Amino acid sequence: MAKLKVALYWAASCGGCEIGQLQIGEKILKLVEVADIVFWPVAIDVKYKDVEAMPSKSIDVCLFNGGIRNSEQEHIAKMLREKSKVMIAYGACAYGGGIPGLANLFNKQTIFDRVYLETPSTLNNDHTVPQPKTKVPEGELNIPEFYDSVKTLRQTIDVDYVIPGCPPEERTTWLALEALISGKLPPKGTVITHNAKAVCDDCSRKRDVKKVKKFYRTFEMIPEPEICLLEQGLLCAGITTRGGCGAPCPQANMPCTGCYGPVAGVIDQGAHFLSAVASVIDSNNPEEVRKIIDDIRDPVGTFYRYSLPDSLLGRARIK
Ligand code: SF4
Ligand code: SF4
Repeated sequence: MAKLKVALYWAASCGGCEIGQLQIGEKILKLVEVADIVFWPVAIDVKYKDVEAMPSKSIDVCLFNGGIRNSEQEHIAKMLREKSKVMIAYGACAYGGGIPGLANLFNKQTIFDRVYLETPSTLNNDHTVPQPKTKVPEGELNIPEFYDSVKTLRQTIDVDYVIPGCPPEERTTWLALEALISGKLPPKGTVITHNAKAVCDDCSRKRDVKKVKKFYRTFEMIPEPEICLLEQGLLCAGITTRGGCGAPCPQANMPCTGCYGPVAGVIDQGAHFLSAVASVIDSNNPEEVRKIIDDIRDPVGTFYRYSLPDSLLGRARIK
């Protein structure tokens, strides 16, 4: 039987998804028995022109991680879509925009001003910032155009499946690879995990419908080991986050930050999380409620940590 042809690519991401892929450990030997990797810039020396030369739909599956931050990433995403039978958004950045998507609180101008002109360690008397095209004696240099907003993969191309996580847990990656190897893929559009319900469903902590008067940051308290973290005032996103990871974070006393994306049927993970948080506040007094909420530091980073580009608002409005 012909081996599967697999491509892997990273766009606006941190490299953690590559670690996630390697976490399958010795199962990689099973994978290489049935699959050849034809494109993986982080690990093998294949050039873009080699992919351009491949016939349409000649790649069986592409695992694409990272959001779309610039014109090069958009071009490669479109090219890999054209060359691949199955396109998988791998990891939280491809799925919801991820941590790089929090840059949608700003735009290109404010990001470039900060990075190239304003940081205390920057010496840039000529105020030089990257330009997409620069003329030099030898000709014209081109670098990718940096966009105002980070987009998700699904906002850029047609995506067949999602493997969620930051990075995806080994069990989730292998679940998808096994389905591919056996040819038993779920219906198009499936977010592939072991549990389509919430992280709370995988979590052994007890929920008692207790209410809270104050929210804490993780360094401000040592939580009880068996009680729900949200009911102890820690902002745990388990209730709004798709399960399947096995709830490793709450088991280790750390609140879930939501990396598996929204539970099925929810289109705005942050709004859903806000609603869950509102339901545990122990007060009916508007002034007191306002004070309790004002104590939450970094609300966007808390409620939309991995999903700002995929949210209903998508980005901050900047004049
Ligand atoms: Fe566990 Fe967090 Fe859900 Fe509480 S909110 S049950 S700690 S996952
Ligand atoms: Fe991600 Fe939450 Fe699971 Fe931790 S518990 S791996 S943050 S989904």
